[in-house]
Amino acid sequence: MYWSKSLIPTMKETPDGAEIPSHILMLRAGLIAQIMAGAYSYLPLGLRSLHKATQIVREEMNRAGAVELLMSAMCPISLYEQTHRVEAFGNVLVKATLPRGGKNVPIVFCPTHEEMITDLVARFVSSYRQLPVTLYQIQTKFRNEERPRFGVLRTSEFIMKDAYSFHTTLESLNETYKKMYDAYGKIFTRCGLPFLPVEAESGPIGGDASHEFMILSKNGEDKIVHCEACGYAANTEKAEIGPTAAEPIDTAAFKDITALDTPGAHTIEQVCKFLKAKPTRLIKTLIYLADGQPIAVLLRGDHDANENKIRKSVGVGGLELADPDTIQRVTGAPVGFAGPVGMAQKIPVYADHQVMGVVNAITGANEDEKHLVNVNPVRAGKGDWTPDKVDDFRNAVEGDACPRCGKPLRIREAIEVGHVFKLGTKYSDSLNAKFLDADETQKTIIMGCYGIGVNRIIAGLVETSFDEAGIVWPVNLAPYEVVVCPMKVDDEKMMTLAQTLHDDLESRGIDCIVDDRDQRAGVKFKDADLIGFPLRIVIGEKGLAENKLELKWRWEKQSEMLAVDGAAEKIADLLNKERASGERFRKSK
Ligand code: ATP
Ligand code: MG
Repeated sequence: MYWSKSLIPTMKETPDGAEIPSHILMLRAGLIAQIMAGAYSYLPLGLRSLHKATQIVREEMNRAGAVELLMSAMCPISLYEQTHRVEAFGNVLVKATLPRGGKNVPIVFCPTHEEMITDLVARFVSSYRQLPVTLYQIQTKFRNEERPRFGVLRTSEFIMKDAYSFHTTLESLNETYKKMYDAYGKIFTRCGLPFLPVEAESGPIGGDASHEFMILSKNGEDKIVHCEACGYAANTEKAEIGPTAAEPIDTAAFKDITALDTPGAHTIEQVCKFLKAKPTRLIKTLIYLADGQPIAVLLRGDHDANENKIRKSVGVGGLELADPDTIQRVTGAPVGFAGPVGMAQKIPVYADHQVMGVVNAITGANEDEKHLVNVNPVRAGKGDWTPDKVDDFRNAVEGDACPRCGKPLRIREAIEVGHVFKLGTKYSDSLNAKFLDADETQKTIIMGCYGIGVNRIIAGLVETSFDEAGIVWPVNLAPYEVVVCPMKVDDEKMMTLAQTLHDDLESRGIDCIVDDRDQRAGVKFKDADLIGFPLRIVIGEKGLAENKLELKWRWEKQSEMLAVDGAAEKIADLLNKERASGERFRKSK
């Protein structure tokens, strides 16, 4: 390719509204152009990288035994009604009505394809002999993300590789799940991403049934819990917390419970300010409706509730924070003044482990504008409170004990780039996907699903691989692997050499672009660094006099000289070695 023939609108300045490196650099390097919030066009260079990521995904999926198909992006809404996902997706679902022959046909632009593929399999698979099968596609998805941000990390229209597997037994599902999990590792390794598989909420199957593949990055929207000592990693919804040795409670320090007026202090922050106390001295009382029945969940003031843990420990399916009317009815006070004292007699009280260690705690008084101080959970007979159950009800925080090895956990920001999930029979049940088993009985097909955000591979790579000059691409994803810069475009000898080198490299399977613009060296070098081609070859007057080219890796400070004779072979060799290794990119940053 010749630069002058392509469309590469590089920019010097940071574009308005771009905040994170991947967004800024992808715009500045002319890889993408914004069309509206959450929607981008891929320009020639961006598309080349996207295609390379797509191809890696496709190759590894095929290698793992998955079979590619392509489903319609449009789907009649009725399929989503059958699985109750019209409500579950809410505004995220992109809907339309198509006027057809005097009728209005309501459709959905698919946010993911469980419904369509299950329906397809229900129609064409009827016998155990046709199973297992894993089908996948690489296709545009639509999600009306309410606040699309961060460039192509989160958009309303994005390309997903979505695979779905269908099985007669759980063992067969587990086998495919492992294959997909391993394939994901290979994909992200080839893409040069510093990824980490983390345990995620497992849904109906339970156990080890879901993993998210995360890229550690300070601009990630997800938080994960990671133990560097033993490797335990989970997302915050799932992360367990190891036991901490209970500190001995100094009962001699207990003071008498006192009610204080706290006008206008509803939030933890306001109460702390008002009473000049740290959040660790507060016990917050959350009123939930658990399968419709009110319960109180107590947490230390600095901790956040983990609704998955509450749901599991309490043994309920539905859990939602109570509305203000229920809170008033149950506690006798408006939102912000609930407390455990006197509550235990009315509704079940669930306390987090850490709550039991708070000495002389501050709690709501179940009275408008009042709090209690010096509440002690372990003190009996003085009007304090007793929990119905003590368990882990909160999200892990930095420094909590690892549930596997006890060492301190770290909380890290991360970008979710892929997800593997054992679905079970959720969709096959509602869409009637059954098979006739060897014993002549009808059974429900067991499913797994496996997604990768292909655009996020690109954005995630840029987010973790750049310097002050621009993007630093690994060979496998670079839009072009080498840029050839002839210093004088009106010098016939230089241009002939550039063209020969280009053609020779291309014939060796190396993607090469010649910067044939009539520009100063500084401009060419700045653009080459901004876009981040792994290798830059300069054809200059001085070098040429000695029959030499200048070669520089994007990540090295120094350049080296290379003989013109045999240059293409040498360059191809260097690039292929670097492609196979890619080591420098995978290290977690
Ligand atoms: P998130 O929690 O980030 O919204 P998700 O868990 O809803 O993502 P999945 O339904 O698991 O996403 O989709 C599979 C993959 O598709 C994700 O792992 C992610 O890489 C990608 N993806 C999801 N939503 C978007 C989006 N709005 N823009 C770009 N990629 C996305
Ligand atoms: Mg997900």
